[in-house]
Amino acid sequence: MPNLKNHMEEVVFNQMKNVLQDIKMCQCEKCRMDVAAIALNELPPKYVVTEKGVLFSKIDALQQQFEIGVTAAIIRAALLVRKSPWHDVPPDGGGAAANTPQS
Ligand SMILES: [Zn+2]
Repeated sequence: MPNLKNHMEEVVFNQMKNVLQDIKMCQCEKCRMDVAAIALNELPPKYVVTEKGVLFSKIDALQQQFEIGVTAAIIRAALLVRKSPWHDVPPDGGGAAANTPQS
């Protein structure tokens, strides 16, 4: 059964590990999700149809092309979250993840 999937999500999560280590910020699940949400709001979605990983070789080639822009978006998002992390904010005082950063 074919699946529709935003491949950008996978790229962002893959690259995020390196970026978060590089800038030495909190890597708890909340912070990582916040960074991913901000970065993904900024980046164009890349929808692909997948069927049990059949598409993977195509995706690798695709990935090289937008890798640099993705890294930049993750860095911007990570710096924002690092500056004002929401992981300590009580659940009802949050909601910041819904805001998109200005570009
Ligand atoms: Zn955190």
